Amino acid sequence: NADAAMYRAKELGRNNFAFFSAEMSVNATERLGMLSRLRNALQRNEFLLHYQPKVCLKTGRLVGAEALLRWHNGSHGPIPPGRFIPLAEESGLIVEIGEWVLRSACRQAVAWQRAGAPPLPIAVNLSPRQLLRDDLLDVVEQALRDTGLDPACLELEITETVIMRDVEKSLHTLHRLKQLGIGIAIDDFGTGYSSLNYLKRLPVDKLKIDRSFVSDITTDPDDAAITRAVISLAHILNLKVVAEGVETEAQHRFLLENGCDEVQGYYFGKPMAHQDFAALLA
Ligand code: C2E
Ligand code: MG
Ligand code: MG
Ligand code: MG
Repeated sequence: NADAAMYRAKELGRNNFAFFSAEMSVNATERLGMLSRLRNALQRNEFLLHYQPKVCLKTGRLVGAEALLRWHNGSHGPIPPGRFIPLAEESGLIVEIGEWVLRSACRQAVAWQRAGAPPLPIAVNLSPRQLLRDDLLDVVEQALRDTGLDPACLELEITETVIMRDVEKSLHTLHRLKQLGIGIAIDDFGTGYSSLNYLKRLPVDKLKIDRSFVSDITTDPDDAAITRAVISLAHILNLKVVAEGVETEAQHRFLLENGCDEVQGYYFGKPMAHQDFAALLA
């Protein structure tokens, strides 16, 4: 179809024709195949969400969940987000998929609450394209209205690189989202570049320290120092700070001793199916 052809033309245009090799053409063909499967995935019901617990370090209590997209294709099996999200983003499909994620996560949070769970916030990842679209606010408001989720129970995770790409527009959008009563977290903090000046102006509630720092905090003094600095920075700016990718008791102890607020990681729980998360809530 036309989109696929355009995508292919772009793909070819990017590679210097003289260096076009068999390997690259297989790669491009593979991507095209994945793109067409991705295009059909929504209507074929191939997506689902997994939920990863967020835990308060001081109390050890469950304080929220992050919704993470999973794709299970009929003939290709499970495909990790790292492989298909970039393609979805590039092709624009992420807009429709992202809306499905948002609505599904809100619906699930309401279902848990109706079943008796406390009103914990559910976090949804927003892609760059979603953040920069003019209808984002309508989409979010509509999802909240249709599902009946309290805005205070929704948190949006946005990476700093996206915000820095168009600071004025992001500021405007984030302020309007905040006015709805939604929480905002900066995801993968430390991997992009955030000007401290902007950070001060951004209406965000949380910084999430990227897993790449957390994984070496007990062995690499630089990562330990960076993590401590991010925790201080967050607290100076009156933000909460969450560590991603906590896998060991030693990492947990380091974060506790250094005043981190929340943690997320395999040590506390992997992303899991909604039934398993419901069991955790109970
Ligand atoms: P993220 O938002 O930073 O999510 C955290 C990722 O780290 C998840 O990978 C999670 O499974 C993984 N993780 C959590 N704890 C640990 C740990 O202790 N050890 C290790 N090794 N990994 C851990 P996942 O689910 O593969 O997602 C990867 C990325 O894909 C996410 O990074 C996010 O950027 C993107 N993504 C996932 N779902 C969505 C979505 O619905 N929409 C958008 N736009 N992006 C999504
Ligand atoms: Mg995230
Ligand atoms: Mg992250
Ligand atoms: Mg990450």
